[in-house]
Amino acid sequence: GAQAVDRKVDSVCPFCGVGCLLTYNVKDEVIVSVDGRDGPANHGRLCVKGRFGFDYAHHPQRLTKPLIRKPGVPKNPDALGDPTNWREMFREASWDEALDLAAGKLKFLRDTHGPKALAGFGSAKGSNEEAYLFQKLVRTGFGSNNVDHCTRLCHASSVAALLEGVGSGAVSNQVNDVEHAGLILVIGSNPTANHPVAATWMKNAARRGTKIVLADPRVTDIGKYAWRTLQFRADTDVALLNAMIHTVIDEGLVDADFVARRASNFEALKENVKGYSAEAMAPICGIPAETIREVAREFATSKGSMILWGMGISQHVHGTDNARCLIALVTVTGQIGKPGSGLHPLRGQNNVQGASDAGLIPMMYPNYQRVDNAKAHDWFEAFWNTRLDSQPGYTVVEIMHKALAPDSDPHKIRGMYIMGENPAMSDPDLNHARHALASLEHLVVQDIFMTETALLADVVLPASAWPEKTGTVTNTDRMVQMGRRALNPPGDARPDLWIIQEMARRMGLAWNYQGPECGVAEVYEEMRQAMHEAIEGITWERIEREQSVTYPCLSADDPGQPTVFVDDFPTQDGRVKLVPADLIPANERPDADYPFVLITGRQLEHWHTGSMTRRATVLDAIEPIATASMNGADLQRLGLQPGDTITVKSRRGEVVITVRRDDGTPTNAVFIPFAYYEAAANLLTNPALDPFGKIPEFKYCAVAVTPG
Ligand code: SF4
Repeated sequence: GAQAVDRKVDSVCPFCGVGCLLTYNVKDEVIVSVDGRDGPANHGRLCVKGRFGFDYAHHPQRLTKPLIRKPGVPKNPDALGDPTNWREMFREASWDEALDLAAGKLKFLRDTHGPKALAGFGSAKGSNEEAYLFQKLVRTGFGSNNVDHCTRLCHASSVAALLEGVGSGAVSNQVNDVEHAGLILVIGSNPTANHPVAATWMKNAARRGTKIVLADPRVTDIGKYAWRTLQFRADTDVALLNAMIHTVIDEGLVDADFVARRASNFEALKENVKGYSAEAMAPICGIPAETIREVAREFATSKGSMILWGMGISQHVHGTDNARCLIALVTVTGQIGKPGSGLHPLRGQNNVQGASDAGLIPMMYPNYQRVDNAKAHDWFEAFWNTRLDSQPGYTVVEIMHKALAPDSDPHKIRGMYIMGENPAMSDPDLNHARHALASLEHLVVQDIFMTETALLADVVLPASAWPEKTGTVTNTDRMVQMGRRALNPPGDARPDLWIIQEMARRMGLAWNYQGPECGVAEVYEEMRQAMHEAIEGITWERIEREQSVTYPCLSADDPGQPTVFVDDFPTQDGRVKLVPADLIPANERPDADYPFVLITGRQLEHWHTGSMTRRATVLDAIEPIATASMNGADLQRLGLQPGDTITVKSRRGEVVITVRRDDGTPTNAVFIPFAYYEAAANLLTNPALDPFGKIPEFKYCAVAVTPG
């Protein structure tokens, strides 16, 4: 802005995976405004969250002292209590007392019950360095691989399919490559709300003639720019996609040369899709056969076709199968390995790509090296100079089950360290998850606010907000970018990197990271070694200098590779492995008692569980209350007016919420964002898991809707 400020500090937006570069304008130790910077993902653009969602950092509810639960105050998962009234539940403590208790009790549980009694959730909102150190603490200090984060709720199934199919979980092409595409298929994604600046590149491309195909049970804003909109029936992704693949084969549009040279298992795929003609699938997915064929033809023959997808693909019990179909579609048409084509699972959180790369997942060390691969295991034992568990750990939802396991279960989880995540809002079937958290013998939560999860903690450690620390994050485009400290944390709050190291020291680890900002550069350099070739050429100094570097980046003079798989795929035989998929129904279908489908998701103004954005003045002013969206026809049928109150009930819980009319929502369905604690959508959701990615079915469960 033009106003006089004390300093301008360059950083990255802390919200979504687009990774817009920005500048914080600081006056009198307060961020007064934010400017978009000319980063490779945003070229100066910011959405409403990036531009106005910053004053949460100065909110009076910031935690400024370590807190310890008062003796005799029970954890009540059925009534979490008022987060502003935490003084009834917690007392303030010194850092030494809180850390000694936090780490001491975890150590006691580990020594008494063994390493599997502990688990840790890191955060996709933290830096790469925090993610790396957190997983290192769990693996080398707790002694197991029970470490995970919200990628499990996000793209775990996409990543499972991508690792299996193309050998890498990251995107093949960057978002702004849409300008080179002839067609972009946006499926299971609402980019205007969830990746807003990325959506602007799509809209700009459409204006220049790129055909957008929106395929989604909900017709969202991007539909206004679409050449074709396929509002398929929720849960029928595989039917639609197999019908497109069938059409490509049936109409002789296969890129036979590409398939012969670069794919395996084509015959099995071909055999499998025989039963999936557009004509056979039309009544199942609700899209006319001729439309399916027309879109498939255009996809196969355009100069470049690119698929961008979101949680609508991944959050199903058949999420991995959905993604397998996307991989098969680009492969049979040869639409991968060149500009303006390929696969782009739009990453949700600002650092969910980086946190996963850094090894914050239970089956992989940094850079997706499997913990049960003997070579990787031996390498990390030598690198970290300690014994490591070679068994994959439990995932997010499995950890909640293990917390409620009987005492006799040798893998019962008794103690947890949760950094910057809010599973008491983000997990499916919240009543179950909250009971699991409350049942822990010891829960340590590190966060900036008294979150719903922190209300169930024994010790709460006050952490730093994003503008208060220095570190790197990796966006959806594989760009490693640097955020710099613009403010000091309030009161006694501390940088997360400092807290992790203090916890590690008290768990008995001899770490000694040196240098400014809690040794962040030294941690980064260690992580760079652990990731081998992936970010070999991206030194800390280089990110400081260049602001943003894309990986793979093999050497100091490698500019980074925006498009990958040009020559081969990082699979064992260098080819795509095609994996056929069949129709698997949702785990819970509507019936007479619960006749509506619940679809959960996000909205433009509020981020995930709302802990930051609902405390950002402008964003809260735009969307102050929880709303459920329903089709006008359903409202009429139920005798409802927009603004009325409804009760939405599933087999697991119920919420009371204000209804809003949105004719983009399909009939017999209700859409609820999960950001609102007072009407928490995840009280309703189904914890059934995709068997490969272990991701819950957030996008489909059965609910009843009643007025009042
Ligand atoms: Fe931030 Fe994403 Fe908006 Fe960019 S598009 S300003 S990264 S929330």
